[in-house]
Amino acid sequence: MNVLLLGPQGSGKGTQGKRIAEEYGLAHIATGDMLRAAIRAGTPLGVRVAPIMVAGELVPDDLMIGLIRERLGEPDAQTGFILDGFPRTMPQAEALDAMLREIGRELHVVFELQVSAEACSERLLRRAVQEGRTDDTPEAIRTRLSRYYEETEPLIEYYRTSTGNLVGIHADRTINAVFAEVQRALEQAAVR
Ligand code: AMP
Repeated sequence: MNVLLLGPQGSGKGTQGKRIAEEYGLAHIATGDMLRAAIRAGTPLGVRVAPIMVAGELVPDDLMIGLIRERLGEPDAQTGFILDGFPRTMPQAEALDAMLREIGRELHVVFELQVSAEACSERLLRRAVQEGRTDDTPEAIRTRLSRYYEETEPLIEYYRTSTGNLVGIHADRTINAVFAEVQRALEQAAVR
């Protein structure tokens, strides 16, 4: 099964993505984690994206598309994956469609984790303090959320009309309540 998770930063995407991956044995493809690992390792990609990420801006599409193309070719992604953080723009979504067509695969479920902008912002500010994330400044958080509404939110309509398997999840609840709803949707998709 191939799953896509959409939702603003602070909607719980990372937490749910990890849990879905573990429960269903899917490769968890989290682009933010991949980029942070590249920064820690000091690779050329890491050096290039570090200032972009600190500012809360989006990494250029060509870099992200190349990264995903490579990642989807790895062995663990062959039996099923969950995409968390990609695509974030319309060109990325179109490139993903083309890649999946090329390799004869499809997205079985597209989740939209629904949480208001205010709740996301509060969660991110709280996380910044609790985890001492100095790059999570109020300004970077504001920029990240604006980029989501400008660039990523239009993808919801795109998937609603193109795939017909978009599932909205009311995500301003506990981790377990959200996960239970996710599981119900995945089980329905599995029997279809
Ligand atoms: P995340 O951990 O998914 O919230 O991503 C953290 C940061 O990584 C984002 O604010 C972007 O700067 C960058 N990033 C992650 N995925 C993408 C993507 N698909 N396109 C552009 N930038 C991305």
